[in-house]
Amino acid sequence: MAVERTFSIIKPDATARNLGGAINAMIEKAGLRIVAQKRVLISRAQAETFYGVHRERPFFRELVDFMTSGPVVVQVLEGENAIVRYRDLMGATDPAKAAANTIRKAFAQSIGENSVHGSDAADTAQKEIAQFFSANEIVG
Ligand code: GDP
Repeated sequence: MAVERTFSIIKPDATARNLGGAINAMIEKAGLRIVAQKRVLISRAQAETFYGVHRERPFFRELVDFMTSGPVVVQVLEGENAIVRYRDLMGATDPAKAAANTIRKAFAQSIGENSVHGSDAADTAQKEIAQFFSANEIVG
């Protein structure tokens, strides 16, 4: 199995409730290494680019409003099979459907305010990491 990097966001609902440390503890306990991390405010333009694939969805405006409503923590996670392992750790998009011991089951408030983002594939991981980090900010 290959060592991969994936992109993660601790979303505004989670930073507002001071859950960064608790989420990072779950990430590290799952065996993923946080190799880059910063707390930022995302601009509307950044959010619209990041979620461009959802531009036509009815919830797009709400999603951009939410992601720009407060600080987020953007991260790069590293580990074997990191992309799928982090998706498993996050749990289903809708917390009502999330499995036990997942971040969204533990912390998410709704299908929109669901505490974390994680890349869904290798090509998106690469693009998402590049949107927020330069190579010298990632220290494995
Ligand atoms: P993810 O990969 O599990 O994050 O899910 P998606 O790629 O399908 O959706 C991206 C993000 O859009 C989700 O994490 C939610 O924050 C938001 N989202 C998805 N579906 C809905 C919805 O029906 N309503 C609202 N308000 N937000 C949604």
